[in-house]
This record gives sequence, structure tokens and C-alpha cells, in this order.
Amino acid sequence: MRDLLMIPGPVDVDADVLAALAAPVPGHLDADFIATFGRALKRLREISLAPGAQPFVVSGSGTLAMELAVANLTEPGDRALVVNTGYFSDRMAFILERHGAKVTHVRAPLGGAPDAAQVEAELRKGPFKLMTVTHVDTSTAVLAPVESLVKAARRHGVLAVVDGVCATAGEPFHQDAWGADVYLTASQKAVGVPPGLALLTVSPRALEAWRQRKVPVASVYPDWAEWLPVMEAYEAGKPAYFATPPTSLIRALDVSLGQILAEGLEARFERHRRMARAFRAAWSAMGLRMLPTSEAVAANTLSALYYPDGMDASLVGRVKAQGVAIAGGLHPELKTRYFRVGHMNRVTAADVLATVGAIERALQAGGHRATASGTGVAAAQAVLSD
Ligand SMILES: *Cc1c(COP(=O)(O)O)cnc(C)c1O
Repeated sequence: MRDLLMIPGPVDVDADVLAALAAPVPGHLDADFIATFGRALKRLREISLAPGAQPFVVSGSGTLAMELAVANLTEPGDRALVVNTGYFSDRMAFILERHGAKVTHVRAPLGGAPDAAQVEAELRKGPFKLMTVTHVDTSTAVLAPVESLVKAARRHGVLAVVDGVCATAGEPFHQDAWGADVYLTASQKAVGVPPGLALLTVSPRALEAWRQRKVPVASVYPDWAEWLPVMEAYEAGKPAYFATPPTSLIRALDVSLGQILAEGLEARFERHRRMARAFRAAWSAMGLRMLPTSEAVAANTLSALYYPDGMDASLVGRVKAQGVAIAGGLHPELKTRYFRVGHMNRVTAADVLATVGAIERALQAGGHRATASGTGVAAAQAVLSD
């Protein structure tokens, strides 16, 4: 029996995306593959709503995407402002420091996000070279007010790097209109492809900052100097080589990006909002408290929920026994006190009801009698039928 995969990445992917992976391995010099790679790059630009940006598709996970941004834009001694909403913001700071940046954090209490006024007050203490924001921090399910934060960075002439690993193609993001310099993501979350690809769209301003570097990028693999000619060549219909591209995954990426654009970005964002609303109605009806401190900062791509009184991490196993895979906590301060449910990519009304139902049964099997059976399902159903 196959479980329903409802963790915050990797996510369940479409059958056509899987079929692309099952086809014979394309050579990186095949005419067909060259066309596919070129189209995938153009589509990535569309997904980020960044017609003016340079796309990069590199073999690696989301953490490499973070390093692909930081390694190229940081020189030793540069100051960086990290808008910190959880574990992945800490990781960004860790990478920045490794590349020689002096990091300042701007934080909110756990479960919240700093607002533009707070960030602007820090930006005034600059000059900073760059600011990073985690669009959705997967450890807290906090959605940052990314548009206002990016615009604040712009007003101060600071490069804005946005980690969209748990958001891209699930949460609204208008890279060019908002003026973000790097939007980075990975294949295995809302982009709907198995793990293995680091994806970036980089503004002309960020490329120029990279060109003006005084010291070379500290390691070879993430250096845009190696990848830029490859991306430009494939987009122009010609092959180029630095390191072997993951040809099968790139074909799967092209299929998924095509599906995302066919659904329409606005329709896709709205579907994620709607499914998240149904989940939130269920959590509230079941008396489950969310980790984000308000609806305004609650992500639409996943939920993070405290275990109810008397319950612990064994709930995750009990939900699995009911046929749905969810995830435990991740934030070091409260890892053992909460769990996470992913709701991105192909998430449908059926998935919402199946997941809420499984959690209800698991709570009951665990001896939790606070909510009557069906309360959460009914609340979700009310939103979904609306
Ligand atoms: C998952 C995630 C990452 C890390 O991606 P990996 O593919 O696990 O390296 C980084 N940032 C955010 C916001 C994430 O959700």
C-alpha cells in the first residue's frame, strides 16, 4: 500500500513528470535535449515572473541553490542582513559567514516574521551588500512579507536574495515587479520534480555586482563564471559543457514547469491558498494550534502544528499507520513539540480530506478525546464546498 506523501518536500509528483524520468537517458548533446533544456530555462524565468532575469539550473539540492547565490554575491568583509524566520534563515547565515560575510540578523519572536519597518530600521544602519529573506521557512511554516521586505532593500540599494525553496510556484512572487535580485529554489517542493536540481533566477543588477567582484568566487562548482556560458548556450540552442547536466531530471523539470504554466500561476497560487484555508479551518476546529502566530504569516505551502496536550512525536507514526506521511518538527528550539504537514504542488481537495481524516483517526487512536470524530473533516469540507 502506498502512503499519501504530505511532507514539506520531497512532494508527490505528476505521472507525466515520472514518465519523463523513465525514458531512455538523454545525452547532453542531443538536439532534443538541447531544445528541452533551453525551454526549461525560459519557463523558469516565467515561473519567477522575471522576464529580465538570468536562469540557472544546476545539479544539487536547495542548499546548493543558496550557496550559488551567496558564493557569487559575497566577498570577505561584506555586510549581510538576514531576515530570520527560522532554521533555513540560520542556514543562510551559516553559508554567508563561511563566504566571509559579516551577518546581522533581524528577528521576530518564534512563529512571527519581522515587518518592513523593523527591517528598514536595520537597513538604515548599513551599508549592507545584500539582504536575505526566507520566503517560507519550512521549519516554522512562517510566510515572510516578502514584497515589502524586498522593496525596502531596493530603497536602500541592497541586493535582495529570496530563498523560495518552500514557496516557488506555490506562493505569489513577482521577482521583476518587486525588484528581487535572486529568487532561488529546488526541484522537490512546489516545483513538483524529484529532488536533485538547484534553480535560480538572477537579476541583471546581481550579475553586475558579481562581475565587479575583486576576489574570485571561493570554490569552483558554484561559480557563475562556469555556469553562465552553459545556460546562455542552451538557451540559444547550442550545447556547452562545464559539468554533466542531470539530463533526465531537466527533462522532468521541463514537463513540470510546462504543467505549472498550463495551470496558470495565479490559478495555482489561488489553489494553494484555498487548500491551506481548508487545512487551517480543520486545525482550528480540531483545537490544533499553529506555530505561526497569525494568519498573515501562515504559509500556504505547509502547516506547522503543536502536538495537543498529552501527545508527542509518536503522532507522526500513528498518522503514517493511517496511510498519510507527515513530518516531525525541525526548529531546534521546539523540534519535539510540533509536526508539519506539506500541502504543495498537486495538492487537491481529496488530499486535504484524506490527510485531516488520518490525523483525526490517529489522534483518537492515541487516546486524544478532545475532538469528536469528523470535526476537522467537516470544517475542511465547508471551505472546500464553498
Ligand atoms: C528545503 C529547504 C531548503 C533546503 O533544501 P535542500 O534541498 O534540502 O538542500 C532551503 N530553504 C528552504 C526554505 C527549504 O524549505
